[in-house]
Amino acid sequence: MENCIFCKILNKEIPSKFVYEDEHCFAINDINPKAKKHILVIPKKHIESLAQVEDMNLIKNLFEAIKNINKQENIKDFKTLINTGKNAGQEVMHLHIHILAD
Ligand code: 5GP
Ligand code: ZN
Repeated sequence: MENCIFCKILNKEIPSKFVYEDEHCFAINDINPKAKKHILVIPKKHIESLAQVEDMNLIKNLFEAIKNINKQENIKDFKTLINTGKNAGQEVMHLHIHILAD
């Protein structure tokens, strides 16, 4: 999707280190971290928000990735956050799950 920051990161048009990648998604450190570890888990497919998800297998895949990332990063206690819609604070209109850990 044109003009989407996360699609540009996925396509390497904007450089960003991937902390994790699998078939369905990738993960990067948040540019403006709100916890000691703040990771964004992003599906490779451009979907605007949780409200647009039709295939719930995607959600399963994202949470499987979260388990893998947390194992890799030695994160045991954490919060997850999905902002859905501008009025709920979603800034980047490409679905992503925040992992926040102190
Ligand atoms: P939202 O408010 O949409 O749920 O969260 C978007 C998040 O993406 C914010 O926490 C923001 O700091 C992060 N972010 C925005 N642009 C970039 C970027 O170019 N690179 C990275 N790594 N994070 C970004
Ligand atoms: Zn996108």
